[in-house]
Amino acid sequence: MKIFIIALIISLSLINSAFAYKNYEWGKVEFKKGNYAKANELFKNELAENPENLKCRYIYAQSFVGINNLAKAQKEYEKVIEQSPNSELAKLSSIAISKIHGYYSGESQEPPITLGSPIGDNYIQVAAHNGKITRWNISKMPLKIYIEPSEYYTAVVAAMDSWVKISEPKTISYTLTNNYKNANIIVTFVASLDPGKAGLSTTHTIGYFLKPNFIKLKTTNAANSPYSQEKLFNLAQHELGHALGILGHSPKEADIMYFQLSNYIKNLSQRDINTLKLLYRLDPDLSNFANGETPMVNSVKNDVFIGNKDGRLDKKIQKAVDYVKKDPKNALNWTKLGNLYYYSRQYQNAITCYQKALEINSSFDAAISGLAFVYEKTGDFNKAVTQFTKLVKQKPDDLNYAHNFALYLIYYKKSNEALRILNNLIKVNPDAKNDRNIKNLMNYLKNPG
Ligand SMILES: [Zn+2]
Repeated sequence: MKIFIIALIISLSLINSAFAYKNYEWGKVEFKKGNYAKANELFKNELAENPENLKCRYIYAQSFVGINNLAKAQKEYEKVIEQSPNSELAKLSSIAISKIHGYYSGESQEPPITLGSPIGDNYIQVAAHNGKITRWNISKMPLKIYIEPSEYYTAVVAAMDSWVKISEPKTISYTLTNNYKNANIIVTFVASLDPGKAGLSTTHTIGYFLKPNFIKLKTTNAANSPYSQEKLFNLAQHELGHALGILGHSPKEADIMYFQLSNYIKNLSQRDINTLKLLYRLDPDLSNFANGETPMVNSVKNDVFIGNKDGRLDKKIQKAVDYVKKDPKNALNWTKLGNLYYYSRQYQNAITCYQKALEINSSFDAAISGLAFVYEKTGDFNKAVTQFTKLVKQKPDDLNYAHNFALYLIYYKKSNEALRILNNLIKVNPDAKNDRNIKNLMNYLKNPG
């Protein structure tokens, strides 16, 4: 796609703040995929509309680093500092500029601010507890690990090695210690645990300081026969995954961090690998910080990958929940709550709310549109198309619905379908041809070069 930057039009205008599928959002998606050139274009567009968007300015600068245009990166970092000299982003920008200088003068061997290569499919959102990144401090490696002497000792060592082997160079390393008192991770073997549990990792924090992690591994099954070395290896891999900072569980069975393993897994899955790598690229909120070191207050990187935990949004959600409780037969209330969940990236909750709204009023536009947007986010192409189709059938003359559907189809390279949607629109609403956004799409479809 050439310069093709059109935002989805706000479709839910009846619901106050509504969906704005903006350049900035798109840009973050592209940035996350490692498409820095594309992201750069989108951020540029956002800044043309919203020059005050400081976060966008900062990540715009980062995207220049990604495409190796350091001069322009520096210029944008300078603008961030100028715009808001006391902000966290200004601080980060000056660090970035100093790194660029080091790079130019040959003091620094490494490129400034390594964004790293793109990370593929992962489950970082569940790895992070409450949107917070917990992991060990890279500058305080190697980790000290104590493993209780046992016939399973080498299985646990092998499990730890399996994580270290797939981690990025110079991130995770460890040494074994015989003294559990100064260890970061303490592995012991136990005869019993809570029913149904074969292993347990307990993460301790005090303030934002990450304290030693305790892993307990069971050595026998329910029938009291000892686990195989393979079983113990997997068990240790899983619990060590938690101890390294993957706090939640993967929803997919093929991952070692799935909540319940049934089969022996020889190698960590690509998703396990990606998640761990990403975890150690993000800025920790909880870590074994060095003296005087504190968590990054406004990490753009973390925002991009795990979403901004917005306290105000939580309050809004609480309020919307109260409204729904008071008046549960109101489709608009459910839809509003769905929108808030959507904004906070709680997509399953959002789907539930929109579906509730549609149980009350099956043709409620805003809820259908909301569902289409959620499925767009969760990558359920067919489900999104079903909802978009309903919308354009229900309101064939509506510019926004047709536009959004067409844009979505274009994004999935379904130009013919997109053209059909736009032509239908123009048939029932001839004025639509004069709309700027519709024109843009039409032009693009005629001349996609
Ligand atoms: Zn677990």
